[in-house]
Amino acid sequence: MTYRIIIPVLILSLVLLLAACGSDPSSTNASSEKAPAESSIPASEEGTTVPETKAEPAYPAFTIPEKLASDTLHVKKIDGLTDDFILGMDISSLLAEEASGVKYYDFDGKEADLLKILAGAGVNTVRVRVWNDPFDKDGNGYGGGNCTIDTALEIGKRATAYGIGLLLDLHYSDFWADPAKQMAPKAWKDMDVETKAEAVYQYTKECLEKLKAGGVKVSMVQLGNETNGTMCGVKRWVDIQALMTAGSKAVREICPDALVAVHFANPENADNYLNYASKLAYYSLDYDVFASSYYPYWHGTLENLSSVLSQIAEKYDKKVMVMETSYAYTEEDTDFSGNTIGEGSAVIKNWPYTVQGQANEVQAVIRTIAEDTKNGIGVVYWEGAWISVGTESWEKNHEIWEKYGSGWASSFAKAYDPDDAGKYYGGCAVDNQAFFDTEGKPLESLKVWNLIRYGNETAPVPDAIEDVALMLDINGEYELPETVNAVMTDDSKQAVPVTWNITAEELESYRAKGPAKYEINGEAGGMEANLQLSLIKYNFLKDWSFEEGGEAWTATDLGKADELYVEDKSTDSMTGTKHYHFWSAAQDSVKFTLEQSLKELPTGSYSFEISIMGGDAGDTDVYAYVKINGEEIAKAPTVITSYNDWHTARIDKFDVAEGQEVTVGIYVQCSGDGNGAWGKIDDAAVNSIGE
Ligand code: CA
Repeated sequence: MTYRIIIPVLILSLVLLLAACGSDPSSTNASSEKAPAESSIPASEEGTTVPETKAEPAYPAFTIPEKLASDTLHVKKIDGLTDDFILGMDISSLLAEEASGVKYYDFDGKEADLLKILAGAGVNTVRVRVWNDPFDKDGNGYGGGNCTIDTALEIGKRATAYGIGLLLDLHYSDFWADPAKQMAPKAWKDMDVETKAEAVYQYTKECLEKLKAGGVKVSMVQLGNETNGTMCGVKRWVDIQALMTAGSKAVREICPDALVAVHFANPENADNYLNYASKLAYYSLDYDVFASSYYPYWHGTLENLSSVLSQIAEKYDKKVMVMETSYAYTEEDTDFSGNTIGEGSAVIKNWPYTVQGQANEVQAVIRTIAEDTKNGIGVVYWEGAWISVGTESWEKNHEIWEKYGSGWASSFAKAYDPDDAGKYYGGCAVDNQAFFDTEGKPLESLKVWNLIRYGNETAPVPDAIEDVALMLDINGEYELPETVNAVMTDDSKQAVPVTWNITAEELESYRAKGPAKYEINGEAGGMEANLQLSLIKYNFLKDWSFEEGGEAWTATDLGKADELYVEDKSTDSMTGTKHYHFWSAAQDSVKFTLEQSLKELPTGSYSFEISIMGGDAGDTDVYAYVKINGEEIAKAPTVITSYNDWHTARIDKFDVAEGQEVTVGIYVQCSGDGNGAWGKIDDAAVNSIGE
């Protein structure tokens, strides 16, 4: 690596940048986004000084560790993995965690520097977020690690000692920046865009100079965090790019060997990503890496991720990567502060919340970027060492979070972010997604970062049991499944026998209690199995409420009615939006049947009901009926009164033997009162009533 003596260049560039901003109205007042004028492009170094080369700073090289031994973890080798593929871990909260008393241990059970443990597992990059000033006016930290450039400096020094590169995540904010909020730092709050761009340039430069002076190996710098169309308090691309351009210029000047990255979230909205990339190209932003967050429970499929990143890599000749991902190894919360996923959270769960499931997620994301994605250069795991600061109580932990900033936010954050952090401050929301247990002992899944290079295909064994949901007719036969699906350690599925913790008698006793839901536990493959049983009154009719359009029903018009059809009008329906409608102007012209045949009803006893309402009916003859093999065996009369006064005709019991054809229906005959008889029919049911 060579780098230049750049001080004079910097001063000159700065003058040019200021001059450009002051003289070019396109960069100040443009109401529409347009390409930057020549003068607003930052001055290059060319022709200003004679470059002088210096020897490359002697950073220790990263050594890829030998294969780690694991008897249990199943890991498929990733063939497309290059030696310099970025295997990263965000460890921004490390110093706050250590101050809070958290200790980390290696696989031999010895307390060790987290950086050493990570290097030993194959992690070659660490990411640290940096906030400008995450403190209130009394010096109390907002939390989330209270991360400043000094945090990055200290972690960076420790990382460099193991050959690990520092990925600097500049939020350009005093606290969390993400798609929901991109607040400018307090000190920059009232700046116009040009002044803010200058501040971004100066701040980025100072940060990098500090790291450089500290001997930190800076491998990549992010221009903002999850900047989905907003950044540092600005919301137009013409302004966002102005800030990014200023940041990029500082990186190129101070750390020319570091990659410049932009970072977005929500790859599931592929069109947004393509739009971001096209804006950056339009404004000629000087950057190397288009990076994405990828949380599988929120961010769509890996196929989609790979597809959209590959398109951007191809079209704009950029490197691409996953800047943040993570997955739960347990659904339990361990620090008394709720987690983003886990117990009770209803999110897409492509892998079980187990140590192996977590490893499989990491393997799948890395494999996707390394093998399926064009110019894919790496994957960074988010906060893989942010564990509980204590297991005693919320009160005790709260004290520690407030003091050391080791929770996601402290109460002091209200000074800056009163609506979110100031209200919901607390501990860690991802302690169940770390690679360390509550004691700081490494999970077996930490070895995945190493084993993806070698493969470790242990014999697959059941790792988790899929939950089963079962709906049974309350009056039908009660049969519980004899097998359930086990998710195997190699991510395949296999049916395994299950024993449910319920006797036939207990199950039978539910029958008398009516329709209800039950949770039944059991055992399968040495693990707990869960069955959610719903006992329902099963309706053997098709399209029982006419919502599917009435195809399953047959109407026979015996009186030449004017109107007989399924109508879509929720105010006239008993359930849903549709019902069967009739109307006819002439006297005695309403005379029809509406019926449905059931050919394969199981032997047993059943009830039938159907409902009707209407008006102007005159004399009526209305009844529900049941026919067996074409012969009427039961009927139940009802009446038509007035609008919205539903009446249900019900036949309480009829018996069906094997092979009989059952037809159920309603007969409607109205003389009419002169205005034309009309009505609506809805909500029919054939239910089993047992023996
Ligand atoms: Ca938690």
